[in-house]
Amino acid sequence: MTAKSIQDALAERFLRYSAISSQSDASSTTVPTSEGQWKLARLLKSELEEAGAEAIHLSDTCVLTAKVPSNLPGNAVAPAIGFCTHLDTVDVNLSPDVKARVIEYGGGDVCLNEANDVWMRESEHPEIARYKGERILVTDGTSVLGADDKAGVTSVMEAAVRLLQGPTVPHGDVYLSFVPDEEIGLRGVRTMDLARFPVEYAFTLDSCELGEVVESTFNAASVRIDIVGVSAHPMNSKGNMVNPILVAHDIIAQFDRRETPECTEGRESYIWVNAIEGNQTTAHIGIAVRDHDRAGYEEKKQRIRDIAARVSQAHPRAKVTVDIEDVYGNIEDAKTEANSVATDNIVKAMAQLGIEPIHLSMRGGTDGSWLSRQGIFTPNFFTGAHNFHSVFEFLPLNAFEKSFEMVNTLIRQAVQQ
Ligand SMILES: [Zn+2]
Repeated sequence: MTAKSIQDALAERFLRYSAISSQSDASSTTVPTSEGQWKLARLLKSELEEAGAEAIHLSDTCVLTAKVPSNLPGNAVAPAIGFCTHLDTVDVNLSPDVKARVIEYGGGDVCLNEANDVWMRESEHPEIARYKGERILVTDGTSVLGADDKAGVTSVMEAAVRLLQGPTVPHGDVYLSFVPDEEIGLRGVRTMDLARFPVEYAFTLDSCELGEVVESTFNAASVRIDIVGVSAHPMNSKGNMVNPILVAHDIIAQFDRRETPECTEGRESYIWVNAIEGNQTTAHIGIAVRDHDRAGYEEKKQRIRDIAARVSQAHPRAKVTVDIEDVYGNIEDAKTEANSVATDNIVKAMAQLGIEPIHLSMRGGTDGSWLSRQGIFTPNFFTGAHNFHSVFEFLPLNAFEKSFEMVNTLIRQAVQQ
């Protein structure tokens, strides 16, 4: 097949998936949090059935898993590997409906939406100049493109269907998982039945531009501090009232004002007080803890407990409780001598495909951060897109094809391992 027809196939598949609105909804308490994710999962399921995949299963939380069985002869075995991508697109108060299109980019500014006068200006997005003369997927200026993560879904699906139906390429067992609600705290992957994803290592395709590799993410905890005070009428409140709002204030005042998201970058860690509510009787504080370093992460969680205990001692009649939930872990903490081949293979595949690796320490997490915490080392690599979570998100087809070729190359490499 020529390079052009692979790009056409990828673009067509991407447009089919992106036409299904599948924003996750942080305000919902169910998983999945939106109906559109079911719709997309059911479509993928039927496409996998038609292609002849095995062990296809759609869970009651909309986690779709499937297997492309090994075709190796006789006793030959290769490690089982996996790919995990997410069904949802992010809700950043833009239109939930994606109307993507392919343009031939001739250089200069791009009018995304004439009626609304939305332009992608080369002066504001100089990265686009790199793609002059190429075909690019863009938005209509009212929504994200949703290459995060439908480009990942597309590349994995295209590779799987070709393995199942195309000319025989020797490969071991390849497991696929498509999970909902990644964008709202990795809620979907956390419901995955790992018995349906029995792999030695896995990959996510959930990063931006060509060459990006991520094997370092934050360790992340979500903290909730609840304070119950004592209410009283001000006419007889002396020595009686305990104001939970002031107790909350005392707790917050103990944190280092330089150890916040707005004062840190790169691999620097933070404690982010990101919610506070209070009245005369109760108050609650929400905090996010983020640290690439495991020891630093544990120290921060302990520090929060200590601060709460200290402030609680100063207000003995207040009731202060601390709830800390580990949300996800740093991918690299799951790396072992045996599974480090996953990142070695990413770098080797890039060399083969003529791609310069860009190693990133992500100030966030991926589904792989959860899987890695469960013992499945899952590094992340590029989809080829730019400007995730924005109307200016765009995806050059050449880079998209490279992301797809990474999937194929990683599958072939597992056999040679
Ligand atoms: Zn994503």
